[in-house]
Amino acid sequence: MDGVTSTTSPASAWTEPSSTGAALLLLGRGSDPSAEKGVECPGELPSPSDPTLVERAQRAKAALGDRLFVLGHHYQRDEVIQFADVTGDSFKLAREAAARPEAEFIVFCGVHFMAESADILTTETQKVVLPDLGAGCSMADMAALPQVETAWELLEDLGIAATTVPVTYMNSSADIKGFVGRNNGVVCTSSNAKRALTWAFERGDGRSSRPEGTGRERPEGTGRERKVLFLPDQHLGRNTAVLEMGFDLEDCVLYNPHKPNGGLTPEQLRDARMILWRGHCSVHGRFTLGCVEEVRERVPGVNVLVHPECRHEVVTAADYVGSTEYIIKTIEAAPAGSAWAVGTELNLVRRLANAHPDKQIMFLDRNVCYCSTMNRIDLPHLVWALEELAAGRLVNQITVDRDTARHARVALDQMLALP
Ligand code: SF4
Repeated sequence: MDGVTSTTSPASAWTEPSSTGAALLLLGRGSDPSAEKGVECPGELPSPSDPTLVERAQRAKAALGDRLFVLGHHYQRDEVIQFADVTGDSFKLAREAAARPEAEFIVFCGVHFMAESADILTTETQKVVLPDLGAGCSMADMAALPQVETAWELLEDLGIAATTVPVTYMNSSADIKGFVGRNNGVVCTSSNAKRALTWAFERGDGRSSRPEGTGRERPEGTGRERKVLFLPDQHLGRNTAVLEMGFDLEDCVLYNPHKPNGGLTPEQLRDARMILWRGHCSVHGRFTLGCVEEVRERVPGVNVLVHPECRHEVVTAADYVGSTEYIIKTIEAAPAGSAWAVGTELNLVRRLANAHPDKQIMFLDRNVCYCSTMNRIDLPHLVWALEELAAGRLVNQITVDRDTARHARVALDQMLALP
């Protein structure tokens, strides 16, 4: 990954990428705005065209005072993020919630797995609320507990479960985090994936079994070295292992939960160091090598900055790779006049462009690419949730059962204890 490249291109105003029909439909534009009214919502949603929505949200927030803490993920819409007491990535937000024991209600403007993590990390008396229960995550949904248990049984039958450490990305359900905690694994984020994998490969046997240096000197023997089962994002797992830890692509195998034995032979599983779950982010998975090549041709000197949830060939072709927090800090530190093509969710890229008019910031794809589930949290849902809470009615509470939460907490605490 290269150093910062400054260009002399004049700063240009943000240009919305061209829209795709599906993206606009998901955003409710170009369609009947009342079509989704009431979907997954047990109450009466205010009309999206109500001109008093902002005022209503402010009033409900003021009425709840310190009893309320609103969290806003970076990928949320501007109309929602303006009411967030703190913004951040999923892990930062969960920690912020845990640091506010005085807040009775945590309203999480994000997606379901994030609200679950907040419930796990907060006290028994705090209530976590997700304004729209339809706000899930397609990546988290790609790893269901029965599928993962089936995969683990296969590893047990092959005699390699004992040397395999499960590692799950934060973007997974509480069930999966619980499974990982029960099996002595760890949760990771896109910021600490390398540290989590390093811990996993070194765990228990008192020696490092990962390649050193360039990593081209592969460890000897098969089937007995420490392995990692990485859930559910194949790209974060592969990118971290290969680009940051020196493993070869051949050290990684892809486990497809929809095929018998994951579509792999016993030898492939025994020889692998990274068993990657076949999951991905439907937003970051859209960026292609063609997008990188096209923007480099169109904007000479452009810096390509992407999230590690992108495909391996995209990350390899980029100049900078990192988490959403890293992306924000990199843009903040960039010199005026520099040009940036950013490969992450469009709400964040647009906000960065608006906050830094002295830099030329563009979306890596030429088409609109919102996270459709993140966008389900809109102002009508937020107003509805806040007004219900202010009226003394607890709605859309997200709870994790005690047993799952206890084990998931083990895996989360292990992440917090990473060296
Ligand atoms: S951006 Fe991707 S990983 Fe994040 S919530 Fe949306 S689908 Fe899930």
